Amino acid sequence: MTTVLEILDKGTAYLAKKGIEDARRNMQMLVAHQLDCTRMDLYLRFDQPLEEDQLAPLRDLLKRRGDGVPLQHLLGSVTFHRRDFKSDPRALIPRPETEELVEWLLKNLKLPENPRALDIGCGSGVLGLTLAADLPGSQAVLADLSPDALDLARENAALLEISNATFVQSDLFSALAGRTFDLIVANLPYVPETDRPTLSKEVSHDPALALFGGPDGLDLIRRFVPAAKDHLAPGGWLALEIGIHQSEEVESLLRAASLTDVLTLKDLSGIPRFPVGRNEP
Ligand code: GLN
Repeated sequence: MTTVLEILDKGTAYLAKKGIEDARRNMQMLVAHQLDCTRMDLYLRFDQPLEEDQLAPLRDLLKRRGDGVPLQHLLGSVTFHRRDFKSDPRALIPRPETEELVEWLLKNLKLPENPRALDIGCGSGVLGLTLAADLPGSQAVLADLSPDALDLARENAALLEISNATFVQSDLFSALAGRTFDLIVANLPYVPETDRPTLSKEVSHDPALALFGGPDGLDLIRRFVPAAKDHLAPGGWLALEIGIHQSEEVESLLRAASLTDVLTLKDLSGIPRFPVGRNEP
């Protein structure tokens, strides 16, 4: 007979041996997922014996986690700004930094009544759907080149019962001619191609389309910024997520597109991560 505590200890040791960071927390999340309880509930269930029909799927999850399958894909969901979003290989796993961006936007931007928001490269939909849900009276458009990502974003909207969002397959603004927005957000691929060999095993489970932005990572952002300017309503805001060492160049792109109030917010690690600019009112 194996108890919850024993399986936690054994699984943690296995994951640590496999080089998984935060092995104990990972194991707790997998056991909690299997037992359909929270991580905290486990502390009250340490002595509970586990049956073979619970152990077998747990062993499978553990093996896959040890092989580098991201925890988020095994759990099937990610919490983002207090909501649970489905996450799977169809789109980039939502990152905690991106949550910092949406929180800053919601707190600091003065938007007109019934704002129109656009999320370009929406992936699983975390940015656009959070804006749709938390900006009162808003209408959000979520756009992505990948039909798979759009399917996932649509499923997330349905799961979260968000009905003020629409979805469009678009290569940047190709399917959005003539439409303007009060807020455009974009977490586009920005990882330099040269970083590919150094990325962790987990990152190889994200779609390459969602990660890589050419030799220095900025290929798409260079196309995006000037085009975005034409889709901003007067006084509309543009906000992006970028990688380390990219802020100077992206700020120049924003200024070259005649945007004002240009600044780059830092993430919690102190990296200039979120360039923001505004169209003239
Ligand atoms: N932040 C992600 C990473 O470093 C990249 C996300 C993106 O390219 N938009 O893996």
